[in-house]
Amino acid sequence: MDLVLFGPPGAGKGTQSKRLMARFGLPQLSTGDMMRAERKAGTDLGRKFDEFMSRGALVPDQLVLDLIASKLSSDEAARGAIFDGFPRTVPQAEALDVSLGKMSRKIDLVVSLEVDESALLDRITGRRVCLSCGQMYHVRYNPPPSDGRCGACGSDRVVQREDDNEEVVRHRHKAYLSETIPILAYYQKRDLVRSLDGTQEIDLITAKISDWIESAGLSPASQ
Ligand code: AMP
Repeated sequence: MDLVLFGPPGAGKGTQSKRLMARFGLPQLSTGDMMRAERKAGTDLGRKFDEFMSRGALVPDQLVLDLIASKLSSDEAARGAIFDGFPRTVPQAEALDVSLGKMSRKIDLVVSLEVDESALLDRITGRRVCLSCGQMYHVRYNPPPSDGRCGACGSDRVVQREDDNEEVVRHRHKAYLSETIPILAYYQKRDLVRSLDGTQEIDLITAKISDWIESAGLSPASQ
């Protein structure tokens, strides 16, 4: 099962991916996370990503495709994957189809999380993330423990992402509207898209997406 979680920055793709990953035993392939790892490691590639990420622009397609190629064919993703923040342009979606096709796979489902821009800004600027385990928080709606340590893993590395400030978020949203939204029409032609209100309770959203995944033929990993 190959699933794309689609939606604007801050829609909840990362949060839902982590829950679905645990439930269905599929890896989360997040190009944003992969790029942040390269930046943190201080590689040449990481410095290239930084040029784009720090101003909220999309990283050029070829760099993104090179980055994801080895993960796609890894053993971990042999049963499929949850794509989070990828594809972000129609050429990326086309390239993904070609790569999956070579492995006799295809995108089975595209879930679109819909959240309007004002709610997104509030969500993203209040977002905090644990650099050790990826657990997400929000300063008002789901605050990290008052001792500053991560409630999930105990690390003291709960921080605000550098690109989660208002100016960069507005650029990221513009890039989403101009370059990413057209992907929906691309997948709609194959009737793959299921949309839902991304402002609902987190548990409700997970339950709804899980139903769609199960209807598409994949059972939870524990069953
Ligand atoms: P994310 O963590 O998915 O919100 O991504 C953070 C930033 O990484 C984006 O604003 C882009 O600069 C870059 N990025 C992540 N994934 C992609 C992608 N598939 N295509 C182009 N740029 C990306």
